[in-house]
Amino acid sequence: MIHNVATSKEAMQLEDKYGAHNYHPLPVVLSKGEGVFVWDVEGKKYFDFLSAYSAVNQGHCHPRIVGALKEQADTLTLTSRAFYNDALGSYEKYVTEYFGFHKVLPMNTGAEGVETAIKICRKWGYEKKGVPENEGEIIVFDQNFHGRTTTIISFSSDAGARKNFGPFTHGFVKIPYNDVEELERALKRPNVVGVLVEPIQGEAGVNVPNDDFIPAVGELCKKHNALFIADEIQTGIGRTGSFLAVCGNCTCEHHCERQSTYTKPDMLILGKAISGGVYPVSAVLADNEVMSVITPGTHGSTFGGNPLACEVALAALRVIDDEHLTQNARKLGKIFRDRMAAFAEKSEMVTLVRGRGLLNAVVINDHPDSSTAWDICVALKDNGLLAKPTHGNIIRFAPPLVMTEEQLHECCDIIERTIAEYEAVEA
Ligand SMILES: *Cc1c(COP(=O)(O)O)cnc(C)c1O
Repeated sequence: MIHNVATSKEAMQLEDKYGAHNYHPLPVVLSKGEGVFVWDVEGKKYFDFLSAYSAVNQGHCHPRIVGALKEQADTLTLTSRAFYNDALGSYEKYVTEYFGFHKVLPMNTGAEGVETAIKICRKWGYEKKGVPENEGEIIVFDQNFHGRTTTIISFSSDAGARKNFGPFTHGFVKIPYNDVEELERALKRPNVVGVLVEPIQGEAGVNVPNDDFIPAVGELCKKHNALFIADEIQTGIGRTGSFLAVCGNCTCEHHCERQSTYTKPDMLILGKAISGGVYPVSAVLADNEVMSVITPGTHGSTFGGNPLACEVALAALRVIDDEHLTQNARKLGKIFRDRMAAFAEKSEMVTLVRGRGLLNAVVINDHPDSSTAWDICVALKDNGLLAKPTHGNIIRFAPPLVMTEEQLHECCDIIERTIAEYEAVEA
């Protein structure tokens, strides 16, 4: 491969010189991945504890998913939606039955999925609920993360994500997360058309709401005739040890009608792991009453629903089932939190561990603007484990769901040893 660089240093210099500086990566240059492992240019092996922000739930370069990509790539890659293709319909049948909705609208990136849901929600509000045109409001939550487009950053709480990108899109009402009373108050506004929520706030530092919050969002939306829109781009598809995070503690492998635990959203947004990290695939799922507002010419994407994406997503979803990754995430997540909670008892630096399934965060006893979490992540890298801070004092730990119990214990050993070493140096 002629594009490959000789050293990590060279690769970092190239990115620094020729690429826009829109990220601040850890200083590691990856050149290979397999399962829970990645390797750098020099051949050093690491456990991946980010999984590309939970896109690689099925593990790096899963042979079945990559196999589906290769086979379809030799056959047909892109037709656009100007014509039918022979992969889309079967994928749509599979994905709607899998998640329990009448219809799916296929897109590519997560942010496009969110944009799509916002558009459908507004159109539903005007055409079905009877809200006056251009007056619709969507309720969102403090510390949300839904992507990077101009409309989505219009309701972000992150100053850096917004500064000098205005003017912004109107029509969003932001309220505190995990606050049922505030939600009920906001839903009394006459022109509310929907509530857009992450069932667990990943980027905010794995904020897990009370068990009754998501069911309350669902109920209150029903009561006030607003659409409950779940952004499960990061939390969905086994990550939290449930089929979806909105399933709460339900252990079913698929959607079920156990109303006590499953709060069915009116719209479900998926991305990231729906492709196993192999190709950009996102999707918005809804039932006919909602999706019917979309008619020819009202929305689209050249690449959305292309045959490659369909075959990759089909394979990626089947791997989740066949390898029982949801159950594995549930089992390993508990082991991880038990070990980290025990470690936090002894450690001065670790305040607490929180999360669900294999979406967890360790909170460090320092200021949110400190560099401590970053420094620990650099030390973890040196010890063979890759993780990334979400704030100055929070580290997210989200390995691929194909990890074994033995590997997880080895990783907990690395994390505990690294933090203990760091503590000893600081003391
Ligand atoms: C990553 C993410 C997005 C945006 O997805 P992109 O593919 O990066 O556009 C939206 N919502 C949530 C919850 C995410 O984690």
